[in-house]
This record gives sequence, structure tokens and C-alpha cells, in this order.
Amino acid sequence: MIPPYLEALNPEQRQAVLHTGKAAGDALMHPLLILAGAGSGKTRVITTKIAWLIREQGADPFSILALTFTNKAAREMAGRAQLIDDRAGLAMLRTFHSFGAWFLRRNGNLGSLGSNFVIYDDDDSVALLATLPLLEDLPKAELKQIAHSIARAKDYFLSPEDPDLDLIDFHPEFRRYYTQYEDKLARIGNVDFGDLIKKPVEILRANPEVARRFHDRFSVILVDEYQDSNIAQFELLKELCGPATYICVVGDDDQSIYRFRGAEVRNILEFPDRFAGADIIRLERNYRSFSPILDLASSVVNKNEGRLGKTLVSHRGTGKTPTLAFLPDQDTEAEFCAELIEKSVNKKAAAYSDWAILYRTNAQSLGFETEFLRRRIPYRVVGSLKFYEREEIKDALALLSFLVNPRDEIAFRRVVNKPARGVGPATVDRIVGEAAGDLAEAVRRILPTLPTKARAGVSAFFKALEGGLSMLEPVSPESDGDNNILMFNRNTVEASDENNNILFFNKKTAEAADGKKRPPKGSKREGLSAGEGLSLCVVRLIEDSGIGEYHLTHDDITGFQRIGNLQELANAASIYPATRAGLLEFLEHIELDRSIEKETGDEGENGVVTLITVHNTKGLEFRRVIMTGIEQGVFPRDDKVGDDLEEERRLFYVGATRAMDELYLTSCAMRRMFGRTMPMKPSLFIGEADKNVLRIIGKPPFGFEGRELTDQGPGTGPMVRKPVSSSDGRWKVGDRVFHDDQGYGAVTEIRESDEGPVIRVKFETGKDTHFLSLRQSSRYTKIGNDD
Ligand code: ATP
Ligand code: MG
Repeated sequence: MIPPYLEALNPEQRQAVLHTGKAAGDALMHPLLILAGAGSGKTRVITTKIAWLIREQGADPFSILALTFTNKAAREMAGRAQLIDDRAGLAMLRTFHSFGAWFLRRNGNLGSLGSNFVIYDDDDSVALLATLPLLEDLPKAELKQIAHSIARAKDYFLSPEDPDLDLIDFHPEFRRYYTQYEDKLARIGNVDFGDLIKKPVEILRANPEVARRFHDRFSVILVDEYQDSNIAQFELLKELCGPATYICVVGDDDQSIYRFRGAEVRNILEFPDRFAGADIIRLERNYRSFSPILDLASSVVNKNEGRLGKTLVSHRGTGKTPTLAFLPDQDTEAEFCAELIEKSVNKKAAAYSDWAILYRTNAQSLGFETEFLRRRIPYRVVGSLKFYEREEIKDALALLSFLVNPRDEIAFRRVVNKPARGVGPATVDRIVGEAAGDLAEAVRRILPTLPTKARAGVSAFFKALEGGLSMLEPVSPESDGDNNILMFNRNTVEASDENNNILFFNKKTAEAADGKKRPPKGSKREGLSAGEGLSLCVVRLIEDSGIGEYHLTHDDITGFQRIGNLQELANAASIYPATRAGLLEFLEHIELDRSIEKETGDEGENGVVTLITVHNTKGLEFRRVIMTGIEQGVFPRDDKVGDDLEEERRLFYVGATRAMDELYLTSCAMRRMFGRTMPMKPSLFIGEADKNVLRIIGKPPFGFEGRELTDQGPGTGPMVRKPVSSSDGRWKVGDRVFHDDQGYGAVTEIRESDEGPVIRVKFETGKDTHFLSLRQSSRYTKIGNDD
């Protein structure tokens, strides 16, 4: 009997799930490539396969490794598989990077890496480059470029000595920069993102017994979104696959959107050549979207030349035609979105959680946030906050990182004199120069020789760290192994000298700290409240170091917001145990999963609206999607040509195919960019899209294929009849308004003119007047609607 979870699949999907790589009369293991378009059930096949292997094939969950690219996707995958079989939760479902970190914590010593490394992000890499004498005088923009090239080199699995390195960056000195960067990173004992993939490959290659151990451990490897893998990730898969490993990858060449980060679409196209004996299964039914949505998305991506081309038929049939709204500016865009959403929720046609607002760049989220806050529409911003790039957050993280790895020169430089403690650059350089790795050790040694002011400052800094440290559980004797994050050596009672103000590490401080330990839950100090677990340590560090105070008082306007962000960081820490291992895990989580979600408003029965960049939506689906800013220069960006433009088209395809029931596109005539308001043209993609599956509202900008867009036949847009709402989405007949001089009134009529919508208002005073929506709306406050 076929179990129901398999019965729900179509024949190709079922074939893909039941494929085990073993063929009759053939000892070879056959890899599997599932190549299929959006929404065709690729992820569903993977999750079902995990459950089926465990349930029906008796596979040990520990022997299954499933890899993907974002933590959100990994969590989603785990959730879906567990719905079929609980034991799927025991399988290893991770992102490539988090798998790499897990690998290195256990085997990093084979590549001269301790287990207490911290992961550097792009900014840290730039800061590290800035400390190299060779690069001292270079402007930051150039350092960024070098850091970028180094990251790309690692994506392509190229070392400083590789002859192909010139393909990444042909600057004559690049090889030297890369070499010195690597040397310094090794001295500090940390890794960057690229290392999380590159180092495991090197270790597996150099240590066949480790490779064999991994081949024994993982007998099944599954990869979702394989089209976004880079060369280093491909090499990693190759090394992880032993002769008996079954590998199955799924992907869609039309959804490859990370070329700029080294993704190599050839990985998927050449899979059958690279993995001998591979079988290919294609899935051609889309279960997610109504057909006009698919047709619209396909009509754009079809314009790409470098694609395999796939047929995709909607299983759900026809539905509502996607809508394109031409709007005057981004404020109207935010209002338009808010109104669409509010209306659908008020009518009980949809919940907030059915809606997602997509944009090309992070900065675009702000306008929606402001409007939604004003209207009390609950929303969640996914990964667009650049939360971890904020100064106050980076400061707090530097404190935590230094606590974990006292060799971390970059973290030390960042916070040792912040807030100012009289520790000048000369002192910092001296400490770094004296240190043979461990900076804390160097400080202990040379502190008495420092000038008085600097001595007091450095001591104060370490004292603050000691405070944070005291919030962690002491290391238990049996926990060396993986958890042996030996931070500061507390055994320095003799070395310390109270007269020299070395209060850290000495017994007295430890006792004093113990007395302060574990403030009651929820206690509030200096505006921050410590909750549970690791948050105690985070709050204590922020307070004792003075970083909290510094940010609170540094900037009148944003001070409270900054404290709020620090509080959010502390909240995030509360789910981790107050141990050294917990701290490491927290930092790793932050480096690898930046998709922090900021929520506002209470999540009621209607959930929250999702605000998200198109890149972040990969693999997700929403009932209703609004793709915003479909303008030339925003999406696609103006500098995109050739392959880059093709990538933008794929990105458009990814965004549009997230929509299940309804899809909206918005395109503004004006947008504030780079600090000024600029006239915008509709996106090239609007020109390319099949207009038969697009309902247009609003007025297309002058000169833009006007005829073609507006002559849609009767009944398609509000301009055919006398409009009840203005084309800019701001006003509706029946809106109640307030005007400072005239008092209360109501919109009685709307008409379109060359200067945009003209709104007629009748006031309670009897006055009947008109105003131009585009220019004069700010004088009228909308206070409600009659319907
Ligand atoms: P993407 O390319 O966007 O990652 P995908 O190919 O991974 O998409 P899934 O997310 O697995 O597609 O599936 C899309 C939607 O279709 C999901 O809601 C899934 O549950 C549903 N679905 C997939 N296969 C079937 C099926 N046989 N019957 C009913 N629903 C299905
Ligand atoms: Mg998927």
C-alpha cells in the first residue's frame, strides 16, 4: 500500500522520492539531479525523501545530510520533513556555511585552527586588511574591493598561490595582499565566510581517514537550490561523497541569483558530467501559482538567452490577473500597499500573513515600515535591517568575540577605547606588537609599563570583560573537547597587582562578580533588561563596558533606538545557555544567520505582513505578493548588462513565482534616491512582460508605451469609468478628510488630469473645493472612509 504522503505526489515526484541510486544488476551508485521550475515541488521531494528514507528504508536519520543556502530554508525543510516523520528532525539539515562551521569546530585543528574561532564578516575582513602594513594607506573603498576579490577567490576555491588567481583580480599586488591577509587571519585564529567551505575541503583532501569517517557517517546527501552553489561548495560535495554515498541535488537554472557571490550555474548544468552515472528527473507541474502569474514570470525570464528552457504548467489553472500599478512616488507606493492589505483584511479576504512586500534593495523597506507603523499594520522585516551591521551591534559583538578569542585583534581594536578610556593608538599598537597571539596575555605582561592613563583605561576594559565572563557558568573539568574555549586565564592572581589596577582575573574581582551574579530575571539596569541565559552576559558586558551608555548619550535622536537594538541583541541571546559553548553558538548563529526578523505589533489571528528582499524570498511562497519599485535603475539596476542583466531577470522570475494567488507590481514615477528625488522610468521588465497577463492601473509615465499599456479593453482599469479612487492610490470617493483651516470634509469626486488626480472635497462648512493629489495631498489628512 502506498502511504498517503507518497500518494499525494505526481508520478515524476514519486519517482524522484523513490530513487535510491541503486539500479538492478549494477553496483554503481547513481546520483540524481532534479531539474525543474519554480513551485514544482523540488523542496517537497527532498523533504518527502528524507522522511521516506527513514520510514520505509530504515535509514538512520544521522546518516542523512541535507544542505541548502539560507537558515530560513533549512528550518522550513526540517519542519516539512518532520510533519511526515518526527525522526527527520534528527537528520542534519543545515546551510553549507553552518555545516562548514560545524565541521571546523570538530576538525579545524587539522587545518591549524582551534575550536574557539569566531567568524568574520565582510566588514571584519576589511578591518583586517586595514591593519596590514602593506595596505595601511589605501582608502576604504579599495580595501573593500580587495576583500571582495579575496572572498570571490575563496568561492572559486583559489589559494594565493593558484595560477588562476589572476582571473579573479589581475592587480599585480593582489596575490601578496591575499597571502598577507591569510597569514594574519591564521595568526588571529579566526575564519571568514569563504573559509567555512574552503578549509573543510582542504582538510578532507589532506586527511583521507577524516574523509572516510565522513563517508561512513553520511550515506545520503541532499542539496536544495543547487543552482546557487559555488565552485568551493561543489568541491566540498565531491569530497563528502564516498563510493557508496547517494547524492541528490535539486534546482532550477532560472532561479540562479547569486552569481555576484560566486554561484556557478554550470554546477547544475554540468552535474551529469561531474557526477558519473547521474539520472535526471524533470518536474513540469507548478502547484503554487495561478497560471497568469506563471505566464507573467516566464514571459520575462524567456528573454534570457543562457537558459535551458522548461515547460511549466500551472496545476491550479487560471486565477486573478496580476496587476501593475503606476504610481507617482514611493510614499504613494507605501500607501497603495497598505491600503490593498488593509482592505483585504477588513473584508476578511486575507490575513496579514498572506501578504509579502518584495523589494530589490534593503533600503526600500523603510518607507513601508513607516507607513505600516502609522496604520498599525503588523509586519515583519526579514533580513533587511542590516541589524548586525549597525555600529552599536558590532560593538557589542566585538566585546563578545574578544571574550571568546583573545587573539582577535580586530575586535580588540574596535572596542578597547570605546568609549574613550585614554587608550591611544600607540598603546594599542604596542599591545598588539607585544602579543604573540593572545592579547590578554600581552596586556598582563606589559600593563605595568604603560603610561598611567592608558593603564587605567586598559584595566577598565578588561574589568568590563571580566564582568561579562562572570555571568557564564564556570567551565566544568570534563568539558574540554569541543567546548574547551579557554578564554582568559583566571590563574593569574599572582601576576596581577592591585596597585596597578589589574582588577580583572584576580580572586577578589571574581568574588565581587559572584556577588553580582545572576541578577533577578527581568531586572532593569541602565535601560536594559537582562532576561535569561546568555542575555545576562550580554547585558552585563554592554553595561560594564560603557557601550550602552555611549550609544544612549552619543546621539540624541537615535540613542533610544540604539539601546533598543542592543536590547534586541540581548533578547536574542536569551535562548542560549550562559556558558562558553553557548556564547560561541550564539556568535556563530549570528554570523551565519543574518535573517534576524524584527517584528512590530502583536501577532494577532491575522499574523503579520512580511517585508523582504527578493533575494531572501528564494524557496518561500506567499498567497499575495507585491513586487515594488519595478523601475529602471532599481530593478534592474542601471549598471546591469549582459550576464548581470540576465541575473536580474531571473531575480524577477524568483520574486514573481513566490505568489500563489495574487501578484501586484508597483512602479513609481518619482523616487528619492541618493538623497534627492529623481524621475524614474518603468523597468525594462515591464516592457518585456506579456501584457495579456497584466492589468494596468494608474497612469503610465509620459512616453512609455502608453497606447499598448492603456488600451486594455473595457473594464480593465479604473480609468474607463469615472474613477472612485485616484490613480495614485491616495484617495477614494467617500474618504473623510481633515484640513487645518476648513475642518472636516469628505471626498465627493475624483477625476484624472494632466497633472494627476484632481480631488473634490466638500467640507462640513459647506465649502466645495478641489485640490491636486500629487502636489497638495499633504494639506489634507485622511481620517477614515465611509465604506
Ligand atoms: P521553488 O523553486 O520556489 O523552490 P519548489 O520546486 O521547491 O519551488 P515546493 O516549494 O516544493 O516547490 O512546492 C511548491 C508548492 O506546491 C508547495 O506549497 C507544495 O506543498 C505544493 N506541492 C508540491 N507538490 C505537490 C503535489 N503533488 N500536490 C499538491 N501540492 C504540491
Ligand atoms: Mg524549493
